[in-house]
Amino acid sequence: MSPPAGVWHVHHCAPLFFPSPHLPARCPACGKPLPTSPPREVPSPFRRAADQPRSVLIRPTEGDFLLNYTGGGDLHAGVTDSGGGVVAFDRAGLRRVPTADWPQCIVIPLPASDAPAEAAAARWDHALDRLLTADAGRPLTTDEADRNCFSFVLAFLAALGLPGVAAGGLTREAFAREHVVPVSGRAAKYLTLYRRVRRLGWYAIGEEGRSRVQGAVSGGEDGR
Ligand SMILES: [Zn+2]
Repeated sequence: MSPPAGVWHVHHCAPLFFPSPHLPARCPACGKPLPTSPPREVPSPFRRAADQPRSVLIRPTEGDFLLNYTGGGDLHAGVTDSGGGVVAFDRAGLRRVPTADWPQCIVIPLPASDAPAEAAAARWDHALDRLLTADAGRPLTTDEADRNCFSFVLAFLAALGLPGVAAGGLTREAFAREHVVPVSGRAAKYLTLYRRVRRLGWYAIGEEGRSRVQGAVSGGEDGR
């Protein structure tokens, strides 16, 4: 699956956003010519797991963020090893899963290890291997509410002993509050913008832009 296009930004009579880097000749908000210089791409918060070695990653349990994630959907967590291979927990238990199935992830920022880079990489992979070995061949049974993708990530972080994460480990709530919510909030803002420009063709921030956008919307269906 090729990654869907992003969002491009130019400042004109208002901050304007477009679903393509190829802009119309005239500003859809004010009608004056748009600059011919290339627009700036709004940085996407989503990354391919293969490009994110040694990371804790979040993705929707079903589908992907850009196409079908809505705020209430379940999230799935996994960890990449130092080669970008994904280890995740699913019904079959903890296992290595195809990295290609993780094309659009949010990276959870973690405190940097205080060990030298090579030692930190070895420690990371070793902690993953130990958990994989310990969990090998144990498919999930329905009465194991505490054995899931997030409990795996928390066990991994505790085993890793990163500064600030080590002390007694993290509860799932603390992990969500301190590590997931800040980045998932930024991702949600990007998703809103991404879908808006695709639905409307363009989007302007500001009162004038908003009223004109409303005019543009009334002719078409409004998905959300
Ligand atoms: Zn304009």
